[in-house]
Amino acid sequence: MNSNIYDVIVIGGGASGLMAAGCVAEVMKKARKGASNFGGQVLLLEKNKKLGEKLKITGGGRCNITNAEYDTRELLKHYGDAGKFLFSAFEKFGVKDTFDFFQSRGLPLVIEERKRAFPASHKALDVYNVLEKYVKEGGVIIKTGSPVIKINVNEVNGGLGKKIITSVNCSGPDGEQEYFAKKFIFATGGASHQETGSTGDGFNWLRDIGHTVVAPTPSIVPLAVADEWVKKLAGITLEDMKINFYVDGVKNFSKKGRLLFTHFGLSGPLILNSASTVADLLPAGTVTAAIDPFPTEDLGAFEKRIIGVFDGNKNKILKNVLGEIVPAAGMAKGVEFLISQIDLVDLNKQVNDVRVEERKRLVRLLKALPVTIAGLMGDDRAVVSDGGVSLDEIDMRTMKSKVIENLYVTGDLLHINRPSGGYSLQLCWTTGYVAGGEVV
Ligand SMILES: Cc1cc2nc3c(=O)[nH]c(=O)nc-3n(C[C@H](O)[C@H](O)[C@H](O)COP(=O)(O)OP(=O)(O)OC[C@H]3O[C@@H](n4cnc5c(N)ncnc54)[C@H](O)[C@@H]3O)c2cc1C
Repeated sequence: MNSNIYDVIVIGGGASGLMAAGCVAEVMKKARKGASNFGGQVLLLEKNKKLGEKLKITGGGRCNITNAEYDTRELLKHYGDAGKFLFSAFEKFGVKDTFDFFQSRGLPLVIEERKRAFPASHKALDVYNVLEKYVKEGGVIIKTGSPVIKINVNEVNGGLGKKIITSVNCSGPDGEQEYFAKKFIFATGGASHQETGSTGDGFNWLRDIGHTVVAPTPSIVPLAVADEWVKKLAGITLEDMKINFYVDGVKNFSKKGRLLFTHFGLSGPLILNSASTVADLLPAGTVTAAIDPFPTEDLGAFEKRIIGVFDGNKNKILKNVLGEIVPAAGMAKGVEFLISQIDLVDLNKQVNDVRVEERKRLVRLLKALPVTIAGLMGDDRAVVSDGGVSLDEIDMRTMKSKVIENLYVTGDLLHINRPSGGYSLQLCWTTGYVAGGEVV
């Protein structure tokens, strides 16, 4: 007898695959109690030597595990057009269920600003450990270092009906193996941070077997900028900033939030959550932005404050006063560079000697620090890649494919846009749990 036959095969041991595999095993365990002849076996195939590599680096190692918005309708507003497809799945396993799942397994969660929830230990590894225990206790057979290299599909009903997956080929430590199952769950993730194993294999398989797949592009991703002054501020974080984006000089949209300067450009939640709109704007023309570090003050109020600072420092050199104006220590040197580049005002003159027109120019510049967007950073820096299997082709109440009779799809493989803030992992818990619960 072929020992490579299973009831369910889950491909991909990331966030959604671990949740799905554990859930299948749990459901099977319950079924086994009811019927002693129920012998269900779950196989989890993972390409990497270790499971959950991306999960372990989420939230900068702290893991923003979900977003504590308990009102499902409110929550789903963050998933754009996909929200309307997700209600039923989130009713089965929503935010409250995520809290219960992890807290009942000894992982208390805490809620920070913007309702972002984290493990109280602030360790992504602790989140992973809960899931590893869940799959192991369920008796899931785990094969790591086992990349799936081929999906074998058969037509059913002599080619008139749907297709089914019969088996998958895997090049594991024991050489190439063929594994058979009644049902398959694809949980191979998207295409961001490929060093974690998510290399987009699932997108190719889904396309090959007849699904429509929107090509992945980096979605929650930092922005590359052309401006040297920005790079001089690498490492500085500014809270509660406002940024306005323009196409060919015409204002398009604005956002508020935390901004991080990096050696390649701009990052932080404010930028990550602007990136997919910026991606849409880039083909339309030159995209520029203006950072307003003082969004709570209008131009008049800001100028009044600057006059106050100038009055208190009349005999100082202008460049030595900038530090009293900018919102973060260390920011003055970048602003100083910018001012000298555009020849706005002589920074070596005494404050007393600054003319009114020069002061006004300085005020206008500081309220709208100019940036030219060179593009989006690549998949290697993206939190999530956009794209994935079209939701019309998945029964989102069960995660079951409408094209392949015995296939379920979870997590980043689904074409669902969402911002940062715990929404991605919640999607993994929901889709993993729902697929896992439905597959048996
Ligand atoms: C740096 C970073 C930080 C993030 N922080 C957060 C956060 O704090 N909160 C949040 O909500 N989201 C966060 N995300 C997004 C979140 O991590 C993803 O949405 C989530 O991990 C997707 O889970 P998944 O199960 O779909 O796929 P993945 O976690 O990508 O797992 C897919 C698995 O499939 C395996 N695999 C791929 N191909 C094969 C194959 N051929 N054979 C076998 N196995 C294969 C991979 O090795 C991988 O282990 C972050 C992402 C990144 C990159």
